[in-house]
Amino acid sequence: MKNYKLLTPGPLTTTDTVKREMLFDHCTWDEDYKIITQDIRKRLLKLAHVSEDKYTAVLMQGSGTFGVESVFSSVIGDNDKVLIITNGAYGKRMCSIADRLNLNYVTYDEEYDKIPSAEKVNEILENDKSITYVSMVHSETTSGILNDIEAVGKVVKNMGRNYIVDAMSSFGGVDIDVEGIGIDFIISSANKCIQGVPGFSFIICNREKLIASKGKARSLALDLYDQWETMDKDGKWRFTSPTHTVLAFKKAMDEMDEEGGIPARSKRYRENNELLIKRMKELGFDTYIHSNQGPIITTFLYPENCNYTFNEMYEYIKDRGYAIYPGKVTDIDTFRIGNIGEIYKEDIEKLYEIMKEFLNGKEELR
Ligand SMILES: *Cc1c(COP(=O)(O)O)cnc(C)c1O
Repeated sequence: MKNYKLLTPGPLTTTDTVKREMLFDHCTWDEDYKIITQDIRKRLLKLAHVSEDKYTAVLMQGSGTFGVESVFSSVIGDNDKVLIITNGAYGKRMCSIADRLNLNYVTYDEEYDKIPSAEKVNEILENDKSITYVSMVHSETTSGILNDIEAVGKVVKNMGRNYIVDAMSSFGGVDIDVEGIGIDFIISSANKCIQGVPGFSFIICNREKLIASKGKARSLALDLYDQWETMDKDGKWRFTSPTHTVLAFKKAMDEMDEEGGIPARSKRYRENNELLIKRMKELGFDTYIHSNQGPIITTFLYPENCNYTFNEMYEYIKDRGYAIYPGKVTDIDTFRIGNIGEIYKEDIEKLYEIMKEFLNGKEELR
């Protein structure tokens, strides 16, 4: 069997036991299946530290972007205005979604290696009372930087605006007190830190604000309120449910509990990340981010007078069992290595040995 481990930010390497769940073709209308959906929704609320009377979880078919687009197209009304904060490609993607939907929006564009400033957000909101929503990314997978959603959240709440967070690559891997921060809609997906397989996104919603959005949706398939209304009754999905993904996700949640929940998982990721950066520095690679590096994925710079391409390095590493990721920052040449999923320190050490061997081979050619 073809096999390598993914050092990418999702889809990521899952356990064999999670994969095995998908060998069963589950029926969607029976009680067992609906109970699984309801159980997942309940447990997501726990992971987000929110109370059931104030928040509710909606599962939405499709990848993470479908979840972001579902929120944007369903809750931001024609009379609303959204401030989109960007410091990477995923923030920019929110702008593309807003463009397609013809939403009224303004942006605060930060440099890709800096976190957005809460003071700046405060200033923007003070100067524009017509802004009703603020939207930002938590872990900007473009660079690996971890944005301060708490500091920005304080400002947003203080100014009485609504708050949307794309926590796609951090939810479950970084502890987030969603209710404490006051996030109204937080989005993540099945194939990131909870370590499931691709197929759906999930949105944890402020119940009151979700209900207030009824009838606003511009899309049928991505209608967040309608999806919730159907699902909340008894766990039935509108339209075909990604059954295999749902079964795998439930198993992934069980395994996350067994590992020790978010505290244990975030510790493992953090330690993987620290070891990765340490070893890569030993090999002569500097990181693109110098402060607020997140624990999920790291962007590395190529050393000076480097005599190989990304593809050469990628193929060499892949042949030896690991897949790394190309760079995504726009101004400089970089590559990325993720450390989430079923990845342990041993994997990082193995990668280090492979990279060392590769670089030694390249040195000999000089
Ligand atoms: C993965 C990811 C997404 C969603 O990407 P999809 O390819 O649609 O799953 C959105 N935002 C961030 C920050 C991500 O890491």
